[in-house]
Amino acid sequence: MVKCSDVVVAMDWGGTWIRAAVIDRQGGILWQCRVPNIIGGKRAQLLNAAQALVRVAIDKCDGRPLAGLGIAIAGPVDIETGTLYEPPNLPGLDGVSLKNLWEPMFGHRIWVGNDANLAALGEYRYGAGRDAIQSGQAVRTLVYITVSTGIGAGVVSQDQMFLGAHGLAAEIGHMVIDRSARGAECRCGNNGCLESLASGTAISRIAGVRLNEPDSVISSLSLEQTNMVTSETVFRAASQGDAFAKSILTDIAAGLSVGLTNILHIFNPDLIVLGGGVTIGLNQLGMLPEIHSASAQNAMSRRHREFRLVASGLGDAVGMLGAAGFVWKQLESDMRS
Ligand SMILES: [Zn+2]
Repeated sequence: MVKCSDVVVAMDWGGTWIRAAVIDRQGGILWQCRVPNIIGGKRAQLLNAAQALVRVAIDKCDGRPLAGLGIAIAGPVDIETGTLYEPPNLPGLDGVSLKNLWEPMFGHRIWVGNDANLAALGEYRYGAGRDAIQSGQAVRTLVYITVSTGIGAGVVSQDQMFLGAHGLAAEIGHMVIDRSARGAECRCGNNGCLESLASGTAISRIAGVRLNEPDSVISSLSLEQTNMVTSETVFRAASQGDAFAKSILTDIAAGLSVGLTNILHIFNPDLIVLGGGVTIGLNQLGMLPEIHSASAQNAMSRRHREFRLVASGLGDAVGMLGAAGFVWKQLESDMRS
């Protein structure tokens, strides 16, 4: 039986960082820590680093009953077995079931899910979804979209994650938006994907291309080496009034709006939550209302336009909160059956 005093250990294992936290039933983070992931590490190295962090996190529960471990991980996951399949940012973990490996090792129940899917659950239970419900607004279907180096998403409808047959649904970064010859190459092998038009990678690529054009406009970015221009430098220049940088971000916002209109048509959400570093930059420049109105404007019906668009308030903790929410959700469903 789960008690109110119970906690979970949550982990968010991405390509860059491994984060861990002790989280209570209300989504309160009692302790958290992060360590760098070993980029390109072999399986044993990767696992040793994560296992050491789990041991520290279990110790930080300070004797409070541990209800289980929730792991959000960057890559396709079989949610029943906790097995990873060809994770692009953690290739050393292909075929590994953290559930089978760690349950006997740590003596606690473990649930594993994809980080974007669990981030959507985190927002639904502890973030924008909970805020909306507490202020009297119904939230039936929430789509969480992370706009960062890449673009990923998760969908939760009435507290259920929409995962698809193999746990691979909502790869919205790879919906093809531009089939013309102008469509930029994407890391998935296609051209003109949303990710190649509206991610952090797209911002730096577009800036580089335009700065190299012979009739390039004068910009503070012209002084930088083209290969040193990143999404961060473009956002900084835009915030200082640089028209060239602003025009790039206007195009990024337009690409994102097309993606959101598609999302409205496919999932009919009443709440879309945008997270990730690019969202933070766009939000600081006050660009979310124009993204909202542009995506709504092209929706096919009035009812499709009935949605709210907000920036995530959970920051880097969103994956861990989703992993914790997943543990509580599974335990609640065990108690009902
Ligand atoms: Zn793609």
